[in-house]
Amino acid sequence: SVQPGKPSATSPRHWKSSDTSPTSPTRASSRFRACSRRPHELVGVVGLEIHAQIQSNTKLFSGSKVGFSAPPNSLVSFFDASLPGTLPVLNRRCVEAAVMTALALNCTINKKSFFDRKHYFYADLPAGYQITQQRRAVAVDGQLAYSLLGGRKRNQIQSRTVRIKQIQLEQDSGKSLHDDQRSQTLIDLNRAGVGLMELVMEPDMSCGEQAAAAVRELQLVLQALGTCQGNMSEGQLRVDANVSVHRPGEELGVRTEVKNINSARFLSRAIDYEIQRQIEALGRGEAVLNETRTYDSKSGHTIPMRDKEGLQDYRFMPEPNLPPLVVYEDRGSVPAGLLGAEGVVVLEGLREGLPELPSVKRARLVRSYGLLPEHSFTLVNEDGLMEYFEAVVKETRKEPRKLIGWVTNELLGHLKHHNLSVSKCPVSPSALAELLELQEAGHISSTVAKQVLGEMWRDPGRRAPEVVREQDLGLVCDSSDLQRVCQRVLDSHPDLVRPPQSKVLNRLMGLVQKETKGRADPVLVRSLLEEKTS
Ligand code: ADP
Ligand code: MG
Repeated sequence: SVQPGKPSATSPRHWKSSDTSPTSPTRASSRFRACSRRPHELVGVVGLEIHAQIQSNTKLFSGSKVGFSAPPNSLVSFFDASLPGTLPVLNRRCVEAAVMTALALNCTINKKSFFDRKHYFYADLPAGYQITQQRRAVAVDGQLAYSLLGGRKRNQIQSRTVRIKQIQLEQDSGKSLHDDQRSQTLIDLNRAGVGLMELVMEPDMSCGEQAAAAVRELQLVLQALGTCQGNMSEGQLRVDANVSVHRPGEELGVRTEVKNINSARFLSRAIDYEIQRQIEALGRGEAVLNETRTYDSKSGHTIPMRDKEGLQDYRFMPEPNLPPLVVYEDRGSVPAGLLGAEGVVVLEGLREGLPELPSVKRARLVRSYGLLPEHSFTLVNEDGLMEYFEAVVKETRKEPRKLIGWVTNELLGHLKHHNLSVSKCPVSPSALAELLELQEAGHISSTVAKQVLGEMWRDPGRRAPEVVREQDLGLVCDSSDLQRVCQRVLDSHPDLVRPPQSKVLNRLMGLVQKETKGRADPVLVRSLLEEKTS
């Protein structure tokens, strides 16, 4: 549910500045090793509550448009502003989004769920209550499988699951903008009434890294489904972390709830800080208070929020203006009179329409191209990269296993360096394929291929063959030319010539390549050097 009294999102500009803050937050001290488990030691317990803004054209109960950066109060219907006499009309698309999300997370869909009013008083909630699902949520009992890199060298993929307790539909609140200088609060109701899915996870995780990995996987699932854009910095995905510590096997400890975390990195840091803080407090004989805290990204600390309300009575009551939410198993079970009616939600079609989920994509990449699991993660993690990779595969003879480095190191490196998304990549898949074909056919060395790729980045639109021709980068395989270079290298390195071991040969090869700027035919050079040093 939306928390009262706290605007849960601030302007994106503010986030940017805190995201790039040069002050590095205090890391958990070395006494606490995140995710480690030694008997009799206190360990962290983490349960997330996630609000995901439903990607839909219109709001949950009104026809107003949903938009992130529209002028304040330009997307507000009479219902959103709670004018008397206005009534909610359930948006089928929002229900379908929640149901699809629930199916993707292996939840049980409740065939009948209810809407309830949760009362609290805050300026950005004009009705004085939020419509949510308190008595029975649309879906329960799911799970999310996620992976993280573990092991001593952090190169082993560890698979885990976190149980999903429930997914409920509810309204978002508006936004309050505090103007301290004029001591005014301005209200923007554009967000008021936007559909939210609240996902409540069981306390199955034990450190920040796990929580961040689970949220990352959830983002990918939501994006694949198209049910939420999942951008944390824009407030489309808002994560609250419940954190406690206990000794394994013993009862769970008292938890705190950390709010206002707007990136996966901060989520991870906030949780680890909080676990460490609680361990230290208990170590000093102090108690952990059941309180709401906020994460300050500048200091890397969590601090108590001034929560005047204390324990709040939300005075839940059934929403009288909405019937129970019914989800039908298949078209056959829809009552004759309702077939074709606007608000009817049928599971069957939604289940069939589910797209390929990230875990399935990764498995397919490993299976059909022989990629390493970590490469499959990189391809799926980066929006559009998998499609890019598969497009190059189609156009080159280069083995996918050899191609992967070009995509995940070279191409991604350039993209990261220029802070660009795959969709903005100036080098098209076919242009990269063309370049790699030159290398595959032995026309250029791999060193030169990297150089040409750099050229293609600098000057988008130029194709590889053109760059190679103009800059005369073709593989040097003229035997007499290379003879001379080899002789020169040997003459100036007599120390290396004596023990002609393979290591030395490699060094000499390297020196020859340096002389030819990486353009010498490696096979030819090796045989020449072998001849000369034997
Ligand atoms: P409540 O009924 O008080 O809201 P819930 O059982 O609904 O509590 O849990 C709310 C959230 O808090 C869930 O995400 C859950 O995983 C998490 N949670 C509950 N107990 C703990 C605990 N001891 N430590 C960490 N997280 C917890
Ligand atoms: Mg709860």
